[in-house]
Amino acid sequence: MRLKEKVAVVTGAASGIGKATVRRFVEEGAFVIIGDIQRELGEDLSSEMGHKATFKYCDVTDEVDVKELMKAAVSTYGSLDIVMNNAGIVGSRGPISSTDASEFKATLDILLYGTFLGIKHAAPYMEQQKSGSIINIASTAGVTGGLGPHVYAAAKHGVVGLTKNVAAELCRSGVRVNCIAPGSTVTPLVAAAYTNDHEAIEEVSEIVKAKSPILNRPGMPLDVANAALYLASDESGNTNGHCLVVDGGLTTGSTPNDPPHSDAMPFLRQAGQRGL
Ligand code: NAP
Repeated sequence: MRLKEKVAVVTGAASGIGKATVRRFVEEGAFVIIGDIQRELGEDLSSEMGHKATFKYCDVTDEVDVKELMKAAVSTYGSLDIVMNNAGIVGSRGPISSTDASEFKATLDILLYGTFLGIKHAAPYMEQQKSGSIINIASTAGVTGGLGPHVYAAAKHGVVGLTKNVAAELCRSGVRVNCIAPGSTVTPLVAAAYTNDHEAIEEVSEIVKAKSPILNRPGMPLDVANAALYLASDESGNTNGHCLVVDGGLTTGSTPNDPPHSDAMPFLRQAGQRGL
């Protein structure tokens, strides 16, 4: 019961990482508002959670929707303690010279502007109660280059920057702002990105497993949900402006294959295969 009686809002909560987070938060005693544009999936998840979660339609690029989403937490469950700005898409892809300008802006709108709106409309409630935890979902593509499409990488770097800057402002009110940078995680978004079929979860699980630095261990939505649980709970009370990378070590240089110029790695790999 690490979130006993806390009230959370999660955006993009009807699928993937958001859905796993709703389930994890409810298991730990929270009440959750499920915000998403996927009405049917959101309502199904709400029914699964009983009175502990409520679906509310929210397009994170619509300021009125986002404002109403935060208000719904207070009117339904009495407070707003945790907000996870998670809604996302892969968005515009391809070489920079052929990237469509309007698609670039539309992708930024969901990934960065949507996160800004979530923070903006959560902050007043949290500042007033002098506590709260805001968790923004960035990506490994937001902490280093070459791991995602151009606009996705730009938006996610923006999410990391916004997190640190707002953390420096809101800490004076007792409100913490952190982000999580997941590596490839088995969700419909990644299934669609790798196979063009958002339902190809088993197939994408094998692809993600092969790309993961950790032997036989694909990144799963629950890995990110557990990181969010830590940042949401009082256990992370002194953690602020932090970007928690959940990628099996990929961005630190670990790879599923031996990196060049390292004599140590073959030994380490053999040790890993022996389960040491
Ligand atoms: P997902 O399974 O597709 O879930 C994202 C949810 O957000 C979907 O229900 C999606 O609906 C919804 N959404 C899209 N646009 C929205 C909008 N304007 N307003 C409200 N909801 C909207 O994807 P996921 O992999 O769990 O991704 C969650 C977050 O993690 C994203 O921010 C993503 O960038 C980030 N992330 C994911 C990975 C990964 O490998 N999976 C890695 C790093 C970061 P539709 O399906 O209709 O678009």
